[in-house]
Amino acid sequence: MPPLDEKLEPVLDDVLRRNAGEDLFHQAVREVLGSLGAVIAKHPDYAEAALIERLCEPERQIIFRVPWVDDTGQVQINRGFRVEFNSALGPYKGGLRFHPSVTLGTVKFLGFEQVFKNALTGMPIGGGKGGSDFNPRGRSDAEVMRFCQSFMTELYRHVGEYTDVPAGDIGVGEREIGYLFGQYKRITNRYESGVLTGKGLTWGGSQVRKEATGYGAVYFTEEMLHTRGESFDGKRIVVSGSGNVSIYTIEKAQQLGGRVIACSDSDGFVLEETGIDLALLKEIKERRRGRILHYAEARPSTAAYFSGGRIWDVACDIAMPSATQNELTGRDARELVKNGVIAVGEGANMPCTPEAVNVFMEAGVLFGPGKAANAGGVATSALEMQQNASRDSWTFERTEASLAEIMRSIHNRCAATADEYGAPGNYVLGANVAGFVRVADAMRALGVV
Ligand code: NDP
Repeated sequence: MPPLDEKLEPVLDDVLRRNAGEDLFHQAVREVLGSLGAVIAKHPDYAEAALIERLCEPERQIIFRVPWVDDTGQVQINRGFRVEFNSALGPYKGGLRFHPSVTLGTVKFLGFEQVFKNALTGMPIGGGKGGSDFNPRGRSDAEVMRFCQSFMTELYRHVGEYTDVPAGDIGVGEREIGYLFGQYKRITNRYESGVLTGKGLTWGGSQVRKEATGYGAVYFTEEMLHTRGESFDGKRIVVSGSGNVSIYTIEKAQQLGGRVIACSDSDGFVLEETGIDLALLKEIKERRRGRILHYAEARPSTAAYFSGGRIWDVACDIAMPSATQNELTGRDARELVKNGVIAVGEGANMPCTPEAVNVFMEAGVLFGPGKAANAGGVATSALEMQQNASRDSWTFERTEASLAEIMRSIHNRCAATADEYGAPGNYVLGANVAGFVRVADAMRALGVV
């Protein structure tokens, strides 16, 4: 990670002091500020009017109690969050995460990243994020519904098609978006499709939204590979996780001729040299809500299961970390480099630790940071908003063509910005600077607000 410009040191010090204990937020801010020295050296006016300080402070942070009754009649209490980070470019936009590890610091890190990611898409969306420490694992469908209804009973007053438009993230898929939308509709008496994205196809959702983050991450990685005359065809690929992003990363990588040999969940990973059977994976993960162990049990002659093992020890050409933050460490990165990895595309948000990113950069591995590589999800959410606003619905082919074009242009914007700032091939710098410049220009135009 580059040393921090001396003008930016007090900005980081202030963030650390005012957000004590929020390590993930500190990590995300440190990473972005590390790229901004190059911008303020060239354009010192970006450091004026406390613009960077304002970017590091969310516009609004909402924390609320979420009481609900479980199937045994016990009252449960969770904590809900929505951090509305920056609305210079459009309504706040970003997902909701339901996972026991969620704290205010988690949501702030994700919201901060979202601001730059959304700017990079070139679409009219600001940045925000939300969630709860609710753990959906092992909960019945009725419990998930009651939780979502209680969550929306508070959240509804803060969101809206022109204000703040949540979507899914870890633990929040089409089922949860359905319960949230149903409650919003009931409370407000409005069929306001544009208030949430990731909806089902029969009630205002967009084709390709489910596939978008994974497909987009593969498109972005493919563009990086093309700069070296490479492609997915015939490559060995490891994808961590087995949720929404992972499944559609595997699907697109396979469509492009790649062989995905391993995937995981938080209990362990499965290794199958002949390639993951995607239909079976979908059946177990999407329909049965099962574990990756069940996948291995269904393929006893070809698949091996490693309980709690390290998926990044599996040798591959392309690594796509698609589960969660800081899942790929410096040690893992060294192992991947030793085993000949040529490209890493982050499907998850901040899955590689700063040490891991340094290892990849120093080894000359193509590295696509999450805020660029996984922006296809939010970009397709913006396409969903566009279809909702015009009461239209596009075909799968049209929507996928738009997604592919958006990912190509995000790649080219990052690459061109890296070149402009004297760091060719550095997609981390390219993404941070290109995202920053777009938000910063809008903030300057809107004045000190
Ligand atoms: P899902 O809930 O669908 O899947 C998450 C997957 O990651 C599961 O396999 C889960 O395993 C695993 N996982 C979660 N937490 C951990 C952990 N602490 N350790 C190991 N494995 C873990 O989520 P998504 O696929 O939607 O999200 C995955 C990542 O992609 C997140 O970083 C998210 O922020 C990012 N992302 C998602 C977008 C989207 O459109 N959904 C858009 C852009 C980024 P288990 O079932 O055992 O918990």
